[in-house]
Amino acid sequence: FTPVITIDGPGGSGKGTIMLRVARYLGWHTLDSGAMYRVLALAALKHHVALEDEVGLVRLAGQLEVQFTAQPDLSDTHTLLEGQDVSVELRTEATGSAASKIASLAGVRLALLNRQRAFRRAPGLVADGRDMGTVVFPDAGVKIFLTASVEERAERRYKQLKGKGMDAKLVDLIVEIADRDERDRSRATAPLVPAQDAQLIDTTGVSIEKVVAQILQLVSA
Ligand code: C5P
Repeated sequence: FTPVITIDGPGGSGKGTIMLRVARYLGWHTLDSGAMYRVLALAALKHHVALEDEVGLVRLAGQLEVQFTAQPDLSDTHTLLEGQDVSVELRTEATGSAASKIASLAGVRLALLNRQRAFRRAPGLVADGRDMGTVVFPDAGVKIFLTASVEERAERRYKQLKGKGMDAKLVDLIVEIADRDERDRSRATAPLVPAQDAQLIDTTGVSIEKVVAQILQLVSA
């Protein structure tokens, strides 16, 4: 039995950073499930598969050649699609939006399910996404659902993109993030809702350290 901590929530809620910190502290593996949807969206663009073509996307998911690499201290993670480093394109809001489109297709979600579950390896896994606690790891011992105001989430994305030397406008990000939230919440398959047994943490105005400490407390309880 390998323990799992799930961290779900909308874009920019701090999931990624918090997942890495918790995993680093525990010495556990990580799963950035959003990156899987993002990389499939990039593969679709690369191979000219339309974002509405469910059959084509499922076929593509079956052949998807992707590698996630990380330093042992979990700093400096890279994503390779068919051997090519796509770490920068992966993070753009355009890719996030394309990922959210394909993520609304039930066949696509099913095609990625076993790939995600395969990340569960000893000594443990910290998984972040939208449906980690509800669909992918319903038996996880600790489930977290993070929220934050849309303005604060857009600001975090803005800083993240700027930090990578990428161009972004705060107002555009607010609109794009709100659109993506709406699509993720209202879709028929695996909508963005907290698992019944998830702990809700509002991270608006709360430091990352504080949220990480709160999660580690839940893990040791
Ligand atoms: O978390 P991230 O912004 O990387 O996710 C990109 C998109 O992938 C989300 O907007 C969502 O539509 C989709 N996603 C999902 N289920 C997950 C992770 C991401 O539907 N577990």
